[in-house]
Amino acid sequence: MINILIVEDEFLIANLISETLEQAGYRCKCVYDGESAANEVEQTTYDLVLLDVMLPKIDGFELISYIRQYQVPVIFITAKADVKDRVQGLRLGAEDYIVKPFDVAELLARVEVVLRRYHKCDEILQVLDCTIDTVSRTVYKKGVSVELTYKEFELLLLLIKNKNVALYRETIYEKVWRDPFCQDTRTVDLHIQRLRKKMKWEKHIQTVYKVGYRFIEESDK
Ligand code: CA
Repeated sequence: MINILIVEDEFLIANLISETLEQAGYRCKCVYDGESAANEVEQTTYDLVLLDVMLPKIDGFELISYIRQYQVPVIFITAKADVKDRVQGLRLGAEDYIVKPFDVAELLARVEVVLRRYHKCDEILQVLDCTIDTVSRTVYKKGVSVELTYKEFELLLLLIKNKNVALYRETIYEKVWRDPFCQDTRTVDLHIQRLRKKMKWEKHIQTVYKVGYRFIEESDK
């Protein structure tokens, strides 16, 4: 789960941010001054910090260089719409800047962009010698692009997300083709054959007798 630290001395805003992000599936912790924020970052691994500029004890501009030592991305959240501040924040290493009052959808979108930039979204999967980007739907094998059709890509994701699991042809069909299975095992078999060939994963996409297929990472056969 993605861990986000919210540093904001206005309780209502801190709560609003935290509720919004939690509904979107993130785990959040709120602290209300700069010193507590510094302690949190020392003690816990965060994927992102949302940082208010005007804070008791240590302000956001001072705090960011401290947080950056831990390689945690920071988005500033502040009431100051002043361009000068914005520039200073970004120069100090913030990934983005949100000005209060902000729209909840905007906040979520900016958080997602930064997390994606830091590959915190599981969008890039490293499997064997391949890099699979689930957002751009591209596959690279040892740096060389592998061209997959839409269904082949879906099939690939299904197999690797169910590593070591024997998947029934029926299940594969229903998940990839999103249709009820109609005794047409040939479609699945053909796509598996093509995928195996394109990925050069003959040993990793195994046929399971009377069942279907299974993806494995280790193969000494
Ligand atoms: Ca404040």
